[in-house]
Amino acid sequence: MKSMSNIFKGEAFFTFGETTKSVINPDPCNRAWVEVDSKAIENNSLVLKNFVGEHCSLMAVVKADGYGHGAETVARAALLGGADSLGVATLEEGIELRKNNFDCQILILGNLINSEELYSAFYWDLIPTISGIREAIICNNIAENNNKKYVIHLKVDTGMTRLGCNCDEVKELVSKIDYLENISLKGIYSHLAIADLDHGKKIGHSYTNIQFNKFQKALNNLGARKEFLCKHLANSAGTLSDSRLHFDMVRVGLSLYGYYPANDFESNLNLKPALKVKARVTLIRNVKKGIGVGYGHLFKTQRKSKLAVVAIGYADGVNRALSGKISALIDGALVPQVGAIAMDQMVFDITEKPDIKIGQVVTLLGNDGEMSISPHMWSDLSGSIPWEVLCGFRNRLPRVVT
Ligand SMILES: *Cc1c(COP(=O)(O)O)cnc(C)c1O
Repeated sequence: MKSMSNIFKGEAFFTFGETTKSVINPDPCNRAWVEVDSKAIENNSLVLKNFVGEHCSLMAVVKADGYGHGAETVARAALLGGADSLGVATLEEGIELRKNNFDCQILILGNLINSEELYSAFYWDLIPTISGIREAIICNNIAENNNKKYVIHLKVDTGMTRLGCNCDEVKELVSKIDYLENISLKGIYSHLAIADLDHGKKIGHSYTNIQFNKFQKALNNLGARKEFLCKHLANSAGTLSDSRLHFDMVRVGLSLYGYYPANDFESNLNLKPALKVKARVTLIRNVKKGIGVGYGHLFKTQRKSKLAVVAIGYADGVNRALSGKISALIDGALVPQVGAIAMDQMVFDITEKPDIKIGQVVTLLGNDGEMSISPHMWSDLSGSIPWEVLCGFRNRLPRVVT
């Protein structure tokens, strides 16, 4: 008679007592993971660099861990593709890149407020964004104590109403900053508030146009001084919308990762999505009609059903608001997710695809064969934006670079 252990022998890939590498460090693709195509990012960087032309430099925005793709991976691929500099949101993100030996210019897009932070940025040769004289003076003191110059970029608010000085203060502020001997003001910039909503139209009468005019006017007030500054205004939407927004540099995030700022954004650029989110089927269930599935029984089977339990949940970054709204790709076919998305698991109705097996790979975002699911689809369903979808994937999901 067969013993119990013999029944499962065919399934075991190692015998007990023997320790293989995959036991000590399990395969990152066992449960759920994010696949990052670094070649796609390199391609997008090259495409964007060619698009803006040789007189405009390309800053790859790699904040929030490279929009969830892994900052180091993205920075490396973007620079290979032709990006000239990197943009981060925080001091720590900048330091992390320096520790990984990135030696290009790195601009911190957030506001550093105290002398400790600003000294740290100075030490690591990171460029801070300055919105007023208060921080400029702190920077000057730090640089003076070290007998060096502190390179900064000045931010102007043209209508985002977030960071930046008022437009009408620019001229006076620049002369005050220039008076500080240990400050080297190298750049001036602003940020667009609704360029993604202008849907890639020529900027014409849009709010983006108002911002463009304000920026232009503030620059003109500087006279010849502006020629010595790196002037920049455009994010992805601005970059793709109108070349008048390019100035000396563009700061591109979303499009570097392969996405357009809006679903119906018109562009012939050959951008490639770099990210896929995948997970495995961990159990197949056959259930009767009328059975409640998952927390709150948000879904009840309408027929005798076959269900697949998949090992990914909201703790991995799949927003619970997507419960019962998304589909995923298994074997190149769409299958609907049913019931509430739980912290670590969710369920798919595979009644129409009964051949699906335990261990099979489920593609939640990205393509599988001809079909593809974009972060726009998720954000439209959850009332979010693709930016948030991308940077929502948690560290629990290993990043696998392909
Ligand atoms: C995040 C950010 C960007 C990049 O925006 P995308 O829309 O992702 O291209 C550019 N500039 C600033 C100041 C930012 O904070």
